[in-house]
Amino acid sequence: MSTTPFPSKRAPAYQDIPDEKWNDWHWQLSHRLNTIEDFEALFPLTESEKQALSAPGLFRVEVPPYFASLIDPGNPFDPIRRQVIPTAKELESFTGMMEDSLAEDMHSPVPGLVHRYPDRVLMLITNQCASYCRYCTRGRLVGDPRQGFARDFDAQIAYIRRTPQIRDVLISGGDPLTLSPENLERVLRSLREIPHVEVIRIGSRVPVFLPQRVTSQLTELLAKYHPLWLNIHVNHPNEITAELAEACDRLSRAGIPLGNQSVLLAGVNDDPYLMRRLVQDLARIRVRPYYIYQCDLVAGAGHFRTPISKGLEIIEALRGHTSGFLVPTYVVDAPGGGGKIPVMPNYVLSSSPDKVVLRNFEGYISAYSEPLDYQPPDKSLTDPYKPQEEDLQEGVLGLLTGGQMNIKPEGFDALHMRGGELHRLRKDANKWKALGIGHQEADAEDPQGGD
Ligand code: SF4
Repeated sequence: MSTTPFPSKRAPAYQDIPDEKWNDWHWQLSHRLNTIEDFEALFPLTESEKQALSAPGLFRVEVPPYFASLIDPGNPFDPIRRQVIPTAKELESFTGMMEDSLAEDMHSPVPGLVHRYPDRVLMLITNQCASYCRYCTRGRLVGDPRQGFARDFDAQIAYIRRTPQIRDVLISGGDPLTLSPENLERVLRSLREIPHVEVIRIGSRVPVFLPQRVTSQLTELLAKYHPLWLNIHVNHPNEITAELAEACDRLSRAGIPLGNQSVLLAGVNDDPYLMRRLVQDLARIRVRPYYIYQCDLVAGAGHFRTPISKGLEIIEALRGHTSGFLVPTYVVDAPGGGGKIPVMPNYVLSSSPDKVVLRNFEGYISAYSEPLDYQPPDKSLTDPYKPQEEDLQEGVLGLLTGGQMNIKPEGFDALHMRGGELHRLRKDANKWKALGIGHQEADAEDPQGGD
């Protein structure tokens, strides 16, 4: 493992800025670059970038001088530049493109509170970010001053309070760490006052875009609301600087476990060896790789998309080739709102009742002998860990535990009735009841005997 120090950069245009200003996050925020002239003071723009920056209705552009200084001025394909400076490709449409590709607004019982999974919610508390990623999934909401969430806060908290199954709240936006300390503390305190909220998580790219914001005052504020977890968002090794390392050190010393979420982006990080370097550098700053996301089908991001096979290739380059705790989960967030689906190479090659054939990262193939005398736990004993999931979210686990026999596509029963009558062979629904499986009484009138 390299012990080479991480770089600290400042573009020539900023060399004369006094350190106390450069290291002040207020100065960084108020000097963000967003026009053709701003960027051309640092490096020449391409025609495609100029066209995009002149386009009406473009997703907001703001780049702090610190982050702009990480761009190689001589490289129009620089991976940092591609993330924050638009090109004309952003204006192109593509098949499958959606405004809200994850159906987050559909799954929000109150505005800005996405309740997609059984025991946790996503709480959007601001639409402001330190900089704006060109592939942002929430471009429909983020950066637009008309779409703030302050007006929804009381309804969000009320929903969480009256929904005891919520044990984990992920605060996001926009970027929660752009809030004033007073407003951020109000959110954290309100959540901590709800007894069933066990864990608070924050998703933030502020440590990456604006590490100066991670002051000791901020980490002291966060540390008052443990258990609190924080995921940052680094896509390329060039984003890991001395400043980010210091910010992560301050957060870690405040007892905040750090994870990283990357988005797989064409022309930025779609390279297996680059990603291996990234996860290894994250370990050096005590950040554990958590997810690699497949790029969503979101407007403006078509040119960032890779085939899913690229993600599989990357996982193939990580699993076994580097420390296991550095291998993130590669996920496709299912278009239309199906939630995150993990995708990985196949390691189980075949199986029989007494053998499972597996392969490792090198192609070594081995047979595991199954125990032939294994007995599952006695279900008649009281199970203190019985889950409290809603029936419809038992999913495949429900099939395995016997809670249900099948999961049917919408309209399955009607289709296979083929318009026929409830004739004499169809009348007795009991003939499709599987002994000992499912909730037998609830389906008495279902002629297909489903669950
Ligand atoms: S920091 Fe997050 S919310 Fe903000 S633009 Fe980037 S991806 Fe979107």
